Amino acid sequence: MTGKLESVSPSDPSDVVGRFAVADAAAVAEAVASARSAFPGWRDAGTAARGAVLERFARAVDERADELTLLIAREVGKARWDAASEARLLAPKIAVTLGDGMQLVREYQATPGQRATYRPRGVLAVYGPFNFPAHLPNGHIAPALATGNTVVFKPSEVAPAVGAWMAEQWRDAGLPEGVLEVVQGGPDTGRALAAADVDGILFTGSYATGRALTLATIDAPQKILALELGGSNAMIVCADADLDLAVSEAALSIAATTGQRCTAVRRIFVERPVRERFQEKLAAVLAGLRVGAPLDEGVFMGPLASLDAHARLSRMRDLAAAAGGERVLLVDTGRPPPYTGAGLVRFESTAQRHPYQREEIFGPEAALYPVDDIDEAIAAANDSDYGLAASVITRSRARYERCIGRIRTGVLNWNKGTIGASGRLPFGGSARSGNDRPAGVTATLYCTAPQAHLESEAGFDPGALPPGMPRP
Ligand code: NAD
Repeated sequence: MTGKLESVSPSDPSDVVGRFAVADAAAVAEAVASARSAFPGWRDAGTAARGAVLERFARAVDERADELTLLIAREVGKARWDAASEARLLAPKIAVTLGDGMQLVREYQATPGQRATYRPRGVLAVYGPFNFPAHLPNGHIAPALATGNTVVFKPSEVAPAVGAWMAEQWRDAGLPEGVLEVVQGGPDTGRALAAADVDGILFTGSYATGRALTLATIDAPQKILALELGGSNAMIVCADADLDLAVSEAALSIAATTGQRCTAVRRIFVERPVRERFQEKLAAVLAGLRVGAPLDEGVFMGPLASLDAHARLSRMRDLAAAAGGERVLLVDTGRPPPYTGAGLVRFESTAQRHPYQREEIFGPEAALYPVDDIDEAIAAANDSDYGLAASVITRSRARYERCIGRIRTGVLNWNKGTIGASGRLPFGGSARSGNDRPAGVTATLYCTAPQAHLESEAGFDPGALPPGMPRP
């Protein structure tokens, strides 16, 4: 172990949430070796015994959801409602994994004598992002453990205390020693883990890190990569939309979690007849969002998760004018960084050329673009390097159906914002958003490897020999 990781609350620099020893390469190798030696026992324990541990974990996190809510709010700055909704996602994830998730990898009899089974991969490395420090690692850990893998978990360096809390719940649920190891630290720890003797990398985070992990494992094809990466998500608002619905879904998708969601909406394509009214109403709602200390009553959004996140968002916002955008709104919260207010920028054409339009922006910021019709909106939505989420607001089912299969995203919602995602469905993206190994219910698929079997109990059949082959 080298050095200490200090977790400080973004809403109160004097609040040290915890101090953690940073795992260096030797400590990472030790954790991986321990998970490796626990693997055969956990694999052979069988689905029922593993399921019983998962269910005990689910009961514990359900009972202690309020404790987790406070910890998330304190460590990453989420408002209470937002932290509570994350905390409440952990137990249902276990139920979905043990139900529909395990059904996807159940033994499959194609015909008599032809069967497929799914085997665990071995030791899987799970990387967490800071914006959903509990729910998203849990979305990899639960299916990995349910299917018989052991796990080495590296929480985000911005949220080590949440990671440690989760590991404690697993231990208390009776998970055998070594089945879940935790290594704390930043990118160096992450690099050491990718280079260690693991069989797969289940990663949620930025495109830049996903790319680095792809390069780091290029000569190790046995290490399966499941990449859940960023987004630059589009919403289409049609002229026939229920405008109040469009505005509230847009505002939520822009600003929930202070805009730090992979599914947050960044590019809104609005049909011209409703453009001005939509802009006016949206700006009014965004300007009225209550920003404050995460645990204060009635607060909609807390600060960004760190000063670094604030600096990155400010740099992106500064690029809007150079991209040809006109700033409509930038709310001054009167609070110091990393607090920030919502921002809105307006463009006159749908061209998506500038880094402001093409790169992921992580904060409550969106741009409005005018479109003539749904086809122009679909083309503009697809003019992106990302492919995670999109949403269409229209009263016409036909117009929405036209977008299905034409918009290239892993999530496409109708009359709902981009941020709504169901754990009962696949969740993931293409291009810079991921490598088409969706998490959500389908996570059990990448946690396992299929094995095909041709099977026979019959003895030797001389009639089955091909011509020209002598009988033994
Ligand atoms: P990040 O990529 O900075 O970090 C994620 C994890 O990778 C952390 O644990 C970090 O320590 C580690 N890491 C960083 N550099 C590394 C390297 N070179 N090698 C190995 N590990 C390394 O992401 P973040 O800032 O924590 O999270 C925000 C990002 O996550 C955004 O891009 C967001 O869109 C994305 N995200 C995606 C999803 C999804 O499901 N698709 C969900 C949430 C967040």
